Amino acid sequence: MSHEEIHTAPSDPAASEEEELRPLPRNAVTPKKVRVLLTEGKGMEIEWADGHKSAWSFGWLRAACPCVTCHEERLQEGRKPGQPKPSSAALLPMYTPPPIPVTVHRVGNYAIRFNWQDGHSGGIYSWDYLRRHCQCKECTFTTAKTTGTPN
Ligand SMILES: [Zn+2]
Ligand SMILES: [Zn+2]
Repeated sequence: MSHEEIHTAPSDPAASEEEELRPLPRNAVTPKKVRVLLTEGKGMEIEWADGHKSAWSFGWLRAACPCVTCHEERLQEGRKPGQPKPSSAALLPMYTPPPIPVTVHRVGNYAIRFNWQDGHSGGIYSWDYLRRHCQCKECTFTTAKTTGTPN
């Protein structure tokens, strides 16, 4: 019997919940260009070293906050990262502006962090996390094909 161990980080709270974490090639998680469309209030775009392009709206990013609090909240409500809270019906039918970060910070060379207008800032969005949740047609299609088969 062989004991080959895969070196995943056992302390990563997201690891067990997320779809299996196959390691991504280095150039797939290395951003070549990062654009945060703060003034437009649109979202973030990343061009990766492997040539792939990803884009996320601020709404998606806020709802995909990887901090422990948000992560557990999503687990309890059965939401996927980026899926907005289903509570809008219970709220006052007022216009709620889409979430926008006040400031954006690089975290080392592996992640980015947003200080949201609502005061939340705990989430550290690693390049790996972002690439795994690329919202482009190609990636969402593959994800739906491989993990979108309940039962
Ligand atoms: Zn959070
Ligand atoms: Zn993609």
